[in-house]
Amino acid sequence: MDRRDNASSSAPALGPDASFRRDVLRHEEARGLYACFSCGACTAGCPISEVFPEFSPRKLAKRVKLGLKRDVLEDPYIWRCTTCRGCEQHCPQNVRLYDILNVLKNMAAEAGFAPPAWVEQTRWVMRTGLVYPRDAALAKKRRARSLPALMSRGEQAERLIARTGADKIKAREEP
Ligand code: SF4
Ligand code: SF4
Repeated sequence: MDRRDNASSSAPALGPDASFRRDVLRHEEARGLYACFSCGACTAGCPISEVFPEFSPRKLAKRVKLGLKRDVLEDPYIWRCTTCRGCEQHCPQNVRLYDILNVLKNMAAEAGFAPPAWVEQTRWVMRTGLVYPRDAALAKKRRARSLPALMSRGEQAERLIARTGADKIKAREEP
């Protein structure tokens, strides 16, 4: 087991909720969680855990199994997952932690725990079709490389995002 697995989570440990594990496991892609035997191989292979020892995929799996709903859904580290799937590749039990993280992020967003920066970036993409600001410095760099000016495709992005319902997500309140 990786030593980082012993780091404690910064999220508060709140009481168990029996329905939470059921709600997660009703997603077909999450069912493999039953097979997790807490070996820690996922944590050892996680680049986010390398940078932020507070985050442990192994512990996350355990917290879900224990039904620690608020503790999991309020945890800002679930949003730092790079979606690299390293945890799945290391898992001897074929637990699909990457997919489980997506289930958890959807549940967290529905519960009003999406990070403000994530919601702001979604709004930005809806307005501009770009994931980063199109400023004078960027325009100058593109001209210097004989690249065409970036076009705004906000209307198309807005339609696509609205179909997912992500435009309705509210950010969690920061303390
Ligand atoms: S590698 Fe798989 S079995 Fe091991 S702790 Fe992680 S999810 Fe569980
Ligand atoms: S998919 Fe997310 S949780 Fe899994 S190894 Fe990559 S960063 Fe870590």
